[in-house]
Amino acid sequence: MTAIEARNPQECPARTPAHEHAWSVESSHATSIGQVLYVRCVGCGTRRVDLGGAPFVPPTALSAEVSLND
Ligand SMILES: [Zn+2]
Repeated sequence: MTAIEARNPQECPARTPAHEHAWSVESSHATSIGQVLYVRCVGCGTRRVDLGGAPFVPPTALSAEVSLND
C-alpha cells in the first residue's frame, strides 16, 4: 500500500467538491501530447484543463480545479 492509498479522502474536506462536477468542454486544441481540453463545470463554473484524445478513454486532469468562488 502506498502513502496515497493509505490517506483517507474524508480527512481533506476542503478538496472535496460539494457536488460531482459536470464538465463541459469550452475549447480544445491538439498538442504533441494529445488533445488539451479547457473544461468548465456547468453547475458551479469551476474550470480545469484536461488532456484527452484517445477514443473511449476519459480525459485526465492536467491542472487543479479553479473556482471563481474561492
Ligand atoms: Zn461543479
